[in-house]
Amino acid sequence: MCKVIAIANQKGGVGKTTTTGSLGIGLAKQGKKVLVIDADAQGSLTASLGFTEPDKLEVTLANVLEKVINDEEMEPGYGILKHGEGIDLMPGNIELSGMEVSLVNVMSRELVLRSYIEQVRDRYSYILIDCMPSLGMVTINAFACADSILIPVQAAYLPVKGLEQLIKTIGKVKRQINPKLEIEGILLTMVDNRTNYARDITALLIETYGSKVRIFENSIPMSVRAAETSAEGISIYEHDPKGKVAGAYQSLTNARVIIGTS
Ligand code: ATP
Ligand code: MG
Repeated sequence: MCKVIAIANQKGGVGKTTTTGSLGIGLAKQGKKVLVIDADAQGSLTASLGFTEPDKLEVTLANVLEKVINDEEMEPGYGILKHGEGIDLMPGNIELSGMEVSLVNVMSRELVLRSYIEQVRDRYSYILIDCMPSLGMVTINAFACADSILIPVQAAYLPVKGLEQLIKTIGKVKRQINPKLEIEGILLTMVDNRTNYARDITALLIETYGSKVRIFENSIPMSVRAAETSAEGISIYEHDPKGKVAGAYQSLTNARVIIGTS
């Protein structure tokens, strides 16, 4: 069985892309078949996996969605790229921003990505979707096909209002489009252990959302080594295998909550 997890937060720069890549490669290291989907017009996931010029790629998620909209057939594996560390990638690029507009007028506009996922899900144990920092049509499409949503939150800043809106939107999608949708949990990222700030934020998160949403016990520490990986096309497990960020993502990969349902 395949589990589809969307990694989302409409706040920018909170570690969505880093988490998608690290979790995906971590799961692949355990022998799972993993597809990661770059659902962000910035193409950061695509670039961080070594395809440094996403805008020059011939086939990306935008083309795949177009094919679904036009009811055209696709070869199995159409547009999917391979990464050296064992994951498959459906790349994304600037063309996705055009999709935000064109999706509005199509039939079943929230279900276009779901229709694609249905075509490929048999071949994977996990599909991870890296969402863009907005709650637009493409992100709603990700929520409409996901089994769960993982929410990275940067520990240096707590946009409580933003999280409320995110959780509300997830609830609405669950009620109206995708009844099986769950929140996997909130993951604190870029935690600076030299300060007490992270502890305060964790306490506040638990107080505010703890009754409704799981807050992962493991958080992801701040490390310049993690920031470097995005420029090199390799994962944190290759770049700094013994480092604290690799260890933290490894623990997240092992978390029963992620592993248990497959
Ligand atoms: P966007 O909203 O723009 O898509 P994002 O939520 O996907 O951003 P990332 O791109 O994963 O966030 O991370 C933002 C920046 O922080 C990147 O430069 C990344 O390399 C860096 N970064 C991510 N995780 C860490 C970490 N644990 N320690 C230090 N830097 C990190
Ligand atoms: Mg990103």
